[in-house]
Amino acid sequence: MPSSLKQFSSILPRGSLAYINGNWAESRSRSVFPVNNPFNNELVAPTVNCDVDDAKLAVESARNAFAKWSRETTARDRSAILSRWFRIIEREKDNLAKLLTLEQGKPLAEAKGEIDYSNSFLDWYAGEARRVYGQVVPAPVLNREHLHIREPIGVVALITPWNFPTAMIARKAAAALSVGCTLVIKPAEDTPLSALAFAQTGEEAGIPKGVINVLPSDRSNSASIGRYLCESTDVDAISFTGSTAVGKILLSQSASTVKRVCLELGGNAPLFVFPSADLDNAVKGTMASKFRGSGQTCVSANRLFVHSSISKQFVEKLKTAMSSLKTGNGLENGTTQGPLINDRAVAKTEELLKDATDKGAKIVLGGSRGIGCCFEPTLITGITPDMRIAHEEIFAPVAAIHEFDDETEVVGRANSTRSGLAGYVFSKDQSQIYRVTRSLQVGMIGVNEGIMSCAEAAFGGVKESGLGREGAGQGIDEFTQWKYICQQH
Ligand code: NAD
Repeated sequence: MPSSLKQFSSILPRGSLAYINGNWAESRSRSVFPVNNPFNNELVAPTVNCDVDDAKLAVESARNAFAKWSRETTARDRSAILSRWFRIIEREKDNLAKLLTLEQGKPLAEAKGEIDYSNSFLDWYAGEARRVYGQVVPAPVLNREHLHIREPIGVVALITPWNFPTAMIARKAAAALSVGCTLVIKPAEDTPLSALAFAQTGEEAGIPKGVINVLPSDRSNSASIGRYLCESTDVDAISFTGSTAVGKILLSQSASTVKRVCLELGGNAPLFVFPSADLDNAVKGTMASKFRGSGQTCVSANRLFVHSSISKQFVEKLKTAMSSLKTGNGLENGTTQGPLINDRAVAKTEELLKDATDKGAKIVLGGSRGIGCCFEPTLITGITPDMRIAHEEIFAPVAAIHEFDDETEVVGRANSTRSGLAGYVFSKDQSQIYRVTRSLQVGMIGVNEGIMSCAEAAFGGVKESGLGREGAGQGIDEFTQWKYICQQH
């Protein structure tokens, strides 16, 4: 085991090996790839680099395990295992959070928040597992019984991003496992260790062998594994969280087998500050939505539409709040902003800012790279529709201010994008809140609130931000299918 992982022996006793059919193993090719700490680019651990041959084994294991897990355990059994798993994660929270910060960079307090959020899905679906009800349908003829029953969809491939390395797996896995599905997980190449640790805690909780498989892999193997998972007739569904570009690839690759595809894709969230808004609360909501994960969240407020009558005050207050952020090593006390995930992310942020300032925008705070992949919290004003930053997902700690005068015009502007994940409205005018929430083309809206996701609510987007929902009762729909039984007596 790499020496850097020895401190994590309770959650990664076998280090950075792949997890296939209940075994912790090398790739058949013996290949490894580096997982680095984005704060200082130091190696965290060489990690097993799985390929398509490993993926075939994982799918075979999940297929074999499916019959037992779906038919020979009751909903109550699965619920009990998820509840035990919840308690183990509670016990290991500090270790899981520290590992997450090491490979992802986010501040430890945020990493602990992510582990709590992940665990809330185990808790929720431990309950939901026991409430996956069918229907008895009144038959139109005598002596017949009509039933609608719900069955687990089967083997599900989870392909997940690096920005929430544990949560984006837990949100899917808890729902899928609760109904009897089995899993092949392909985590992001930047953050595979949290996925392995999650599986290890599941193994300790009593998840049988083969029910969960984890395939760490580098970027190029990820693409070939992804294609295999989409095209395999032994995989019944793909549940993906990541960029819209990759989501489209997976959707088209899945067409040949007509499998269920659930996509949680990129966002470009508008946040409106209307004249009646409580400005302090609007700044609080903006800080929470914009700067969590250093701006690297899909629901991050990407376009701050501020009414021209209050924009000067709002910008001043936001600048003051942003000045208190401290960027640096997520493991150090007091850090509130970690690094961006890698050099590519820093380069893209620099490009967006250059394009905007070349076209007349003004940087009011920040604007530069820091140590490693850190980027200063940046406030930029004077955004106009011709700038790239007005249309693209920024995915960095950059607050971009767009001024507006008219509600109808600004909602139209906000909707003039192919994304539709989240939106935020700060206003005290109830009829305005009604009009704007009904007109916005997004899957989720926070009203006077910057953070809204929880296990009890349905998370997901419209347009090119995705298909399907995670969390709540709706999360079960993605992993079950209806069967109609018509029986004559
Ligand atoms: P990404 O699409 O580059 O990668 C996501 C996953 O897909 C990774 O596991 C990666 O290895 C894999 N992948 C990459 N290319 C692939 C291919 N050709 N075939 C199969 N798999 C492939 O996204 P990212 O950079 O890791 O994550 C950031 C994006 O995710 C942002 O756009 C963000 O908005 C989105 N996101 C969405 C949600 C949501 O719930 N809607 C949540 C978090 C992140």
